[in-house]
Amino acid sequence: MTQNKIATIAVRAGINTDEHHGAVIPAIHLSSTYALKGFNDKRQFDYSRTGNPTRATFAQAIADLEQGAVGIVTSTGMSSVHLICQLLSTEDLVVIPHDCYGGSFRLFTHLAKRGQFKLIVVDQNNEQALSQALAQKPKLVLVETPSNPLLRLIDIEKVCQASHDVGALVAVDNTFLSPALQQPLLLGADIVFHSTTKYINGHSDVVGGVLVTKEQTLGEELAWWANCIGITGSAFDSYLALRGLKTLPVRMKQHQINAEQVATFLKSHPAIDVVYYPGFADHPGHEIAKRQQTGFGAMMSFEVKGGVEAVKKLFANLEFFTLAQSLGGVESLISHPSTMTHAGMEIAAQLEAGITQSLVRISVGIEDIEDILADLQQGLAASQIGI
Ligand SMILES: *Cc1c(COP(=O)(O)O)cnc(C)c1O
Repeated sequence: MTQNKIATIAVRAGINTDEHHGAVIPAIHLSSTYALKGFNDKRQFDYSRTGNPTRATFAQAIADLEQGAVGIVTSTGMSSVHLICQLLSTEDLVVIPHDCYGGSFRLFTHLAKRGQFKLIVVDQNNEQALSQALAQKPKLVLVETPSNPLLRLIDIEKVCQASHDVGALVAVDNTFLSPALQQPLLLGADIVFHSTTKYINGHSDVVGGVLVTKEQTLGEELAWWANCIGITGSAFDSYLALRGLKTLPVRMKQHQINAEQVATFLKSHPAIDVVYYPGFADHPGHEIAKRQQTGFGAMMSFEVKGGVEAVKKLFANLEFFTLAQSLGGVESLISHPSTMTHAGMEIAAQLEAGITQSLVRISVGIEDIEDILADLQQGLAASQIGI
């Protein structure tokens, strides 16, 4: 699929579908319930937990962008992850990456502790560890690439092949790139999911999730569960996310232009030890990123010299980077993974995943690049005073 096609799908989703008034933008349907035409004669929608026109339009748009069969909009990104867990029985084995999103790590490890399924946590770039895990015939393999917060890359096609060889389903968390930059279903995945809270909505005013399956039957099974456990997304959030989606391709372009300049600036800065950004030729996942992504994204992390004290000074002195969790909004955000996004992980598990006290993650926004660079310049200078 070309970038043009993606821009067209994103912009035109739901346009010209109003048969009553010819409204160009689809109306928001807030009604919780729908009148039957007559006795035992239902319309397309009957109750908004089960189905809602606004949510259906948004779900179809993401399914089209990911080139999948069924899209399911959920209340949060985590409820999309939890929805996948409905496929698992107590004897089933799940393989998750050691450095996945902290909330996913917490969910899988705590459900496994309660005996809901069996779990193996591996570094999926360690071929021996991965093949040992796959030899135990898992039902599900979770992939997250690029990973959070270290931007490690996983070869989706390779993991899908190896997983399918042992009969496992593969679900890919595509939150960090969005379908504008990576389409896991085309690389062999069975399920792709997003926290739409991030790039897809892009304006930091919705918490939501979406999941797309490659096959119709798996999609129908998951849609049944989404209604059954009651985790479908609200009409208002779907309306906002559909609105945000229209500018996803153009936002991603500007996010990436800014990110490349920020990464280059940070790499040569004396207050920085190391920058994790897949766009660098010496990044260990660079070749995989070039092959399976159409851009390097706008997320990066780095180690500040002087440890956590320097990190605190950096945060206190920035003007255009807001100290906040989350990512993917038009505004630049900065965070400290150890005490924020990954606080749900034990310190030992954090260190195993490479998350140190001096690690900082940024989501590069689309403000003027000169302002962004000047702000980092003065913030980093302040971070080193007294260190
Ligand atoms: C934010 C995030 C999630 C969870 O999504 P919520 O919308 O916060 O529930 C899952 N995976 C990744 C990679 C995320 O960044």
